[in-house]
Amino acid sequence: MASLCDMNDNTAAEVASLLAPLPSVYANSEFQEDELILKDEILVGIQHSSNKVDCLVCSFCFRFIGSIEKQIGRKLYFKNMGLSGCCGGGGGDSSESSSSNHNSLPQGVVSSLMNGEMALPHTDKFPLPSPLSCPGGCQEAFYCSGSCAEADWESSHSLLCTGERSESISREALGEFIKHSNETNDIFLLAAKAIAFTILRYRELKAEHVNKQAKQSVSKQSLLLEAWKPVSVGYKRRWWDCIALPDDVDPSDEGAFRTQIKDLACTSLELMKTAIFDKECEARIHLHQFDV
Ligand SMILES: [Zn+2]
Ligand SMILES: [Zn+2]
Repeated sequence: MASLCDMNDNTAAEVASLLAPLPSVYANSEFQEDELILKDEILVGIQHSSNKVDCLVCSFCFRFIGSIEKQIGRKLYFKNMGLSGCCGGGGGDSSESSSSNHNSLPQGVVSSLMNGEMALPHTDKFPLPSPLSCPGGCQEAFYCSGSCAEADWESSHSLLCTGERSESISREALGEFIKHSNETNDIFLLAAKAIAFTILRYRELKAEHVNKQAKQSVSKQSLLLEAWKPVSVGYKRRWWDCIALPDDVDPSDEGAFRTQIKDLACTSLELMKTAIFDKECEARIHLHQFDV
């Protein structure tokens, strides 16, 4: 059966060259203990869906935010709802049976931890940044600082935000894509970040190019490849080719399993296209087969 994900030959060659392993990195000097050697920013990253109920973190730099009381209160709150550590997503470890009977806390303790009325000993020595809501109004992303909120917005969240100021094509379609990811595998949310990052960077590069009134015309394809370059760094294989075979899948069914996973990725890609692609970016569909 013909796959939804067939690539055109020209693009395949260009993409393959980007996927080639990079030369190794090595040190030619001694480093002292605790010496900072390299500090780099995260290109794209997500918190596992299953981890979101356990920890409140900045959606861009992933540091803890709120307060220790709030972190503990939230965790207890979700645990009482039977959600802690076991809701959907790809994490899937089996902690759900341990959630009952242990938390017979007096009424109100959880809420006073969450709303800041109750202070636990010594927590003042470990202050955490106050959470900032997403500027797009989604109430799903929170940040440790204005600079993280801004950086995330510019890097990918403006296309993936479900709030009023979302720059996606359709918030409804975006909601469906996110729902599908949460119900199947949250790696699609990470792929969406990489794609949104590429789209936004492409638009930026194109605008720069137009502003410079460049004499040589640069093809759309080469701007796309340039935009995708940071994501392409590092050796990658297609997700459906390298995902580990789950224990409950018989090795003789591996082919069928990989086809199923590939179809899942293609369904996710179709949903994502409806939510964030624009006509201008049609060619990149081929590129992103690798990332999904
Ligand atoms: Zn942050
Ligand atoms: Zn948002």
